[in-house]
Amino acid sequence: MLRRRVVQLNESFLKAVDSEDYSGKYRGVFPIKVNQLREVVEEILDAGEPYGFGLEAGSKPELLIALALLEANGPLLICNGYKDDEFIELALMGRKLGKQTIIVIEQVSEVDAIIRTARRMGVVPHIGIRVKLTATGEGKWAESTGENAKFGLTASEIMVAVDKLRRARMTDALRLVHFHIGSQVPNIATIKKAVVEAARYYCELSKMGFPMGLLDVGGGLGIDYDGSRSAFESSMNYSMEVYARDVVASIKQVCEASGVAHPDIVSESGRALVAPHSILIFEAVDRIARDGNAGAPPRGKSHPVIRELEAILKNKRKFDPLERYHDAKEKKEEAHSRFTLGYLSLEQRAYVDRLFWQICRDLRAKLANLHDVPDELARLDSMLAEQYVCNFSVFQSLLDHWALDQLFPIAPIHRLNERPTIQATLADITCDSDGKVDDFIDLEDVRRTLSLHPLKKDEPYYIGAFMVGAYQDIMGDLHNLFGRVNEAHVFLEDDEEDGFYLEETLEGYSVERILGMIQYNAEDLCRMLKRQVDRATRADSVKPREGVAMVDLYERLIRGKTYLIPHRSKKKPESRKAKPSLKRKSVRRTRG
Ligand SMILES: *Cc1c(COP(=O)(O)O)cnc(C)c1O
Repeated sequence: MLRRRVVQLNESFLKAVDSEDYSGKYRGVFPIKVNQLREVVEEILDAGEPYGFGLEAGSKPELLIALALLEANGPLLICNGYKDDEFIELALMGRKLGKQTIIVIEQVSEVDAIIRTARRMGVVPHIGIRVKLTATGEGKWAESTGENAKFGLTASEIMVAVDKLRRARMTDALRLVHFHIGSQVPNIATIKKAVVEAARYYCELSKMGFPMGLLDVGGGLGIDYDGSRSAFESSMNYSMEVYARDVVASIKQVCEASGVAHPDIVSESGRALVAPHSILIFEAVDRIARDGNAGAPPRGKSHPVIRELEAILKNKRKFDPLERYHDAKEKKEEAHSRFTLGYLSLEQRAYVDRLFWQICRDLRAKLANLHDVPDELARLDSMLAEQYVCNFSVFQSLLDHWALDQLFPIAPIHRLNERPTIQATLADITCDSDGKVDDFIDLEDVRRTLSLHPLKKDEPYYIGAFMVGAYQDIMGDLHNLFGRVNEAHVFLEDDEEDGFYLEETLEGYSVERILGMIQYNAEDLCRMLKRQVDRATRADSVKPREGVAMVDLYERLIRGKTYLIPHRSKKKPESRKAKPSLKRKSVRRTRG
């Protein structure tokens, strides 16, 4: 999928260049920050090699990766982000090695640093200018541009920068105009507006006599997460082909109006390349249901509030649904305050709660026949939703769902020939009430629950969160010390018996490794624990054999995994097909 997306992006631009009769070329780069994993970056470079596809780096570590991976005289290496002298020196070292490194100025102060360092190293730098566009984005990252953006130069700052270059006799250095209007731009109109404005900057600088040659349209190419093809935040109202055509056509139009030669076009599409290739698969390990059927009433004399709830449940007075709901709610609240004041026992309160939920369930069942459902009753669905406890951490693996309410396609990955009968939300295993997923994709708008199957005893139930290949894993954090998950790299290949093979498997973090990141040494901890066990053994409160077992358990778990290991009874071993073959990557087949 990764390779396919790279080919698709490049082919879209090739086609657009061709159909628009555009005289420049397309020279795309992959912004490393979107997914830095070595296998991902290597796969992208390999698939992009026939197209001269390059890399974009936004920090020193990313630049160090890009410099090593990119060959000389080849694709572009665009350097964005905040830069110190070391960053600039490293980028210029790339120039000396014959790489197409371009330093994009994000702040006026960087100009002096570049001039200073280039002089000292005796190289002519290639420079781009990131412009602060007036055209603002749309969607969740709208603030990436516009007057208050954190990056880019205003028109007057560009004049200052250009002046500095002239005075340093480095006019030859200026090659590129850059902008980035933010990620996941849902509306193509926004993109077109920005491209036109940036192309105007390009033409003006070109007419001022700088060599130029490159216009970089940044990222922003979206992913249709919810499949609606709309300008909704989690979607996009255009395709990759339309994006390429509109970018090329807009630049062409502006350049021709200004009498400037067509530049080569650079794009830094990250999300669009890598989001689709990754699926997070996790197991639902438990189910938190609403209180079940109201069983036998508590012994002893029944309380009036209970009798009233029983009457509402039986609907003796033939009230309409909304009235029943209001009455039930009122009685439940009354019962709760009676409990707090000491007039209702725990047993009675438990029975009240069960009655209330049973009434709600009864109401919901009746709503199915109702034409026009009142708002309050429409909420019953999510009130009655169950929670499936899932063996993952939202903070590690679905960060943008928590941080930005971004929607991801989520669905069970098996039992798909069975109708899912349960409405549920997902709770993760962190001790954080925010660790949950309760917004899901719907045909229109957002739904609060997901249709899932009832869990079966001793049978694992797996759920997949799709399109998580961009930004999620690397931005994930160590909340509750869970860390990275197990990874399998699957390569689809028709020649293979199953149509795929496993290229690589990577183990998730061990406890030991995570503890090391926060300054605990596993051996020290084991020693400390052992000392306590020894003391207990000597005091005879623990038998020697028990003590040994305790130390063994502690040592085994500290080397083990952070996530849950679901309980399964031993009787029925999981039926398993033969394992697919694991092939090590033959360091890229097509590369020399
Ligand atoms: C993050 C970033 C990108 C990638 O944006 P996507 O929307 O993921 O394509 C491109 N360019 C710059 C400068 C960025 O900061």
